[in-house]
Amino acid sequence: MDALPAAAGTDAPIFDPAAFRLTEQEAALTARARAFGQAVLAPRAARWDREASFPTDNYRDMHRAGLLGICIPAEEGGLGAGFRAYCLTAAEMGRYCGATALTWNMHVCSTLWTGALTEDLDLAPVARAVHRARRQRHYDRILRDGAVYSQPFSEGGAAAAGGVAFGTTAKRVPGGFLINGKKIFASLAGHADFYGVLCTEVREGDEKLSRRDTLYLAIPKDAPGVTVEGEWDPLGMRGTVSRNLVFRDVFVEEDAALMPPGLYFQAALRWPHMFMTLSPTYMGLAQAAYDFTVKYLRGEWPGMPPVKRRMYPTKQIAVAEMRVMLEQTKALWFQAITDAGLDPSKEQVLRAWAAQHTVMENAAALAAKAVRTCGGQSMLKSLPLERIYRDARCGSLMLPWTAELCIDRLGREALYEKGEADD
Ligand SMILES: Cc1cc2nc3c(=O)[nH]c(=O)nc-3n(C[C@H](O)[C@H](O)[C@H](O)COP(=O)(O)OP(=O)(O)OC[C@H]3O[C@@H](n4cnc5c(N)ncnc54)[C@H](O)[C@@H]3O)c2cc1C
Repeated sequence: MDALPAAAGTDAPIFDPAAFRLTEQEAALTARARAFGQAVLAPRAARWDREASFPTDNYRDMHRAGLLGICIPAEEGGLGAGFRAYCLTAAEMGRYCGATALTWNMHVCSTLWTGALTEDLDLAPVARAVHRARRQRHYDRILRDGAVYSQPFSEGGAAAAGGVAFGTTAKRVPGGFLINGKKIFASLAGHADFYGVLCTEVREGDEKLSRRDTLYLAIPKDAPGVTVEGEWDPLGMRGTVSRNLVFRDVFVEEDAALMPPGLYFQAALRWPHMFMTLSPTYMGLAQAAYDFTVKYLRGEWPGMPPVKRRMYPTKQIAVAEMRVMLEQTKALWFQAITDAGLDPSKEQVLRAWAAQHTVMENAAALAAKAVRTCGGQSMLKSLPLERIYRDARCGSLMLPWTAELCIDRLGREALYEKGEADD
């Protein structure tokens, strides 16, 4: 693994290791990501946004820095980060380039879900041994070759919200599976080496698809029958290149399974914080909006005339309100990522939804307030704030835990205990 970039930068940690009692590993990983973000991600971020192009150069450098293997278990060659260590590190990355952090999350989930999460779940010893052997192939590709995995699950229907089974199907054939279906908003489309596709196994005689039969399969980018379709010219998160993926009779061998049959279903029920991993990027963007505002009002933004605006009471009030919102967001999110684990209590799940909602909505609110407070010059494309504003707007839309769905579930679960109904 390469050493830290020479210009480690001067930004303070989002979560101060001493104040938040981070582990040594968390302190080291977040410091590494912050240095990497300032030196590598920040200078390039405007380009991916302007071109709506994938940050290939960043991935090459992330491979060199060991970051592609952050959640691969240490004994299997990775950095061995668990859920919280990853979330804290990803927030530091999101601070400097939202699109890179968000796509990195799709990649990292392919290792976190197959690694630490799967170790927590029930699995027969033989199936676990097969799984460990299979995942080593994926991990080797990542660590050795810098292979990048994406995570397309959205289909434009209720499946990505967790309501029904995925409409993309996998049928067993000799030696493997045949995949058919379509995924929308597939970040890294055309750029990942493998698409980690969630699909439903279909068998002869099945009357309807079941969520219990969800499979998680790694489809090579160039497999016959895989096509990337559609335009990509969105409001924000432009570097994610989230185009549509179509699979027509795509064959993958049995070893393409990233998780054993039934395990994704078990994970979704028993490890629900797995769906919070889209939030760290937006935690980072919330911090970035605040940081920008403070530097700008102090007349310290690089490349801008050193005009101070901090003496106006309206600016001071706005920054105070932003700070309150940022502290609330950090505190709730930190507790929720600390809660994460197998079979959380109802309280912990409600808190996870509240935290997800808060981060996604507050990142957008903080960015909007930053623009209003800093003023007209701050939204020029030569400065990062207007990109942060557009990127932050996307957080609430991310299934399965959109801001709306978090509210929907929170309200219902807070008022009803299991099995309760009204006449
Ligand atoms: C930048 C970006 C990158 C993305 N990357 C990926 C990716 O890599 N992989 C991937 O799989 N997806 C990805 N997505 C897709 C994302 O997770 C959603 O699937 C997508 O935004 C849904 O858009 P839609 O218009 O089809 O939403 P719809 O399904 O039409 O839903 C619209 C809204 O209605 C609400 N809603 C939806 N279903 C229900 C329900 N059953 N009950 C009540 N309310 C509901 C939700 O709040 C939702 O926001 C990405 C999205 C963005 C914006």
